[in-house]
Amino acid sequence: DTNRLTRISKNEWRIEPHGKMNVPGIIYATAELIEAMDDKVFDQVRNVAQLPGIVQASYAMPDAHWGYGFCIGGVAAFDPDKGGVVSAGGVGFDIACGVRTLHTNLTAEDIASVRKELAEALFRHIPAGVGSTGKVKLSMHSIDDVLTGGAKWAVEHGYGLTDDLRFIEENGCMPDADQSKVSDHAKKRQLEQVGTLGSGNHYLEVQVVDKIYDPKTAKAFGIHEGDVKISIHCGSRGLGHQIGTDYLKSMATAANSMGIDLPERELACARLDSPIGLDYLGAMAAGVNCAMANRQVITHLVRQAVEKVLPKANIRLLYDVSHNTCKREKHTIQDGKKSLYVHRKGATRAFGPGDPSLPREYKDLGQPVLIGGTMGTASHILVGTEKSRELSFGSACHGAGRTMSRRSATKRWQGKSVVNQLAGEGVLIRSKSLRGVAEEAPGAYKDVDAVVESAQNAGLANRVARLVPVICVKG
Ligand code: 5GP
Ligand code: MN
Ligand code: MN
Repeated sequence: DTNRLTRISKNEWRIEPHGKMNVPGIIYATAELIEAMDDKVFDQVRNVAQLPGIVQASYAMPDAHWGYGFCIGGVAAFDPDKGGVVSAGGVGFDIACGVRTLHTNLTAEDIASVRKELAEALFRHIPAGVGSTGKVKLSMHSIDDVLTGGAKWAVEHGYGLTDDLRFIEENGCMPDADQSKVSDHAKKRQLEQVGTLGSGNHYLEVQVVDKIYDPKTAKAFGIHEGDVKISIHCGSRGLGHQIGTDYLKSMATAANSMGIDLPERELACARLDSPIGLDYLGAMAAGVNCAMANRQVITHLVRQAVEKVLPKANIRLLYDVSHNTCKREKHTIQDGKKSLYVHRKGATRAFGPGDPSLPREYKDLGQPVLIGGTMGTASHILVGTEKSRELSFGSACHGAGRTMSRRSATKRWQGKSVVNQLAGEGVLIRSKSLRGVAEEAPGAYKDVDAVVESAQNAGLANRVARLVPVICVKG
């Protein structure tokens, strides 16, 4: 087997460079997670290691599973001075899909008697499901302001508070967005979708903190046992998907003419200094802004819905972080300090203490790392470590990760019985699609507790708190 894994430590495995690989592959996981991991992940890690200008290693996080081109849970950085590339498949179709977690001033006890009302209020007020449309209506002209302004646009238009912005990666706005590189078709798809959750794995979840791992950091983050938190998982909707589709096509052609030898078509990419590469980076940043605006508008809707049921509720941001991006960042590698383009696809940025981009409240601690699990088990909040810079360009896992395809999940489970079973366990699911619920059945995912434990033991991020779901609005 050419992809033989060498075990480096309990939570780190290596594929030695062979064939056309420019760098090794490194997978962070326990033996159990490796055993259960889709073999295609190892092929994908190897293929990414063949791309031009990749530095250090091609990485996979403990939640990794097969994805289009790059695996989900993949991290790879490219050096523009070494012919490095940017890849649309390395970002993913849902550009800047991410998680935002909100503090509430409520405890599990406060919501116990109104859980049903709260579930109904959230389900009615936050548009979700395939093709759902929102309350924000944009024109082909005004959408450009969303694409350049991000969450800042949303706050300026009455969706949320100025102070929210500090707790969003990039303060809610990517400055290098270029809306002129986004096709009209992509924009059209988004005109009525800002402030909508989308479908499938996207969710709006009311959660209760059931375990604290690191009391000092938890306290500094504002997390206590019994607290009610609300997490929003969604991305850039139709717009991001269309940007991905548009550029995948043009990158496939461009790679050919640039003489880039692609291990497979799905890895289509363009040199960072080429017109298509630059155009994609501008369009992608616009997609990031769209996703951050989306989560900001949803936050506003969440505040309205919760206040209807619990008028004294006060909702603030813990943090908002994307897990499908390519960002220019400075990292120290073998050649010294370099400006690199870090692809994180289904991987969360996990910067440690001292990073200048963090809000002052978190500067001495590291950033909150927000990790979904399943609607029936748990989710986690971790904190970035200094060491993750060396290990994974400051990245960690983003979820539990699937163990089976959506199709297999629908064969195994029925949406209705999943809803009923979870109701019996104290989790209210609200969804327009029972098929969607079956696809996302908790059994279709890895054990999130094991995944985050592995991430911690690998040094990627440290566990702070565990949250269990009480209400989940699914797309
Ligand atoms: P992705 O961004 O790869 O689509 O999903 C990220 C992660 O979200 C998945 O790996 C999974 O662990 C988690 N997830 C999917 N559905 C739910 C849900 O309903 N609730 C929670 N808490 N996590 C979920
Ligand atoms: Mn996501
Ligand atoms: Mn997504």
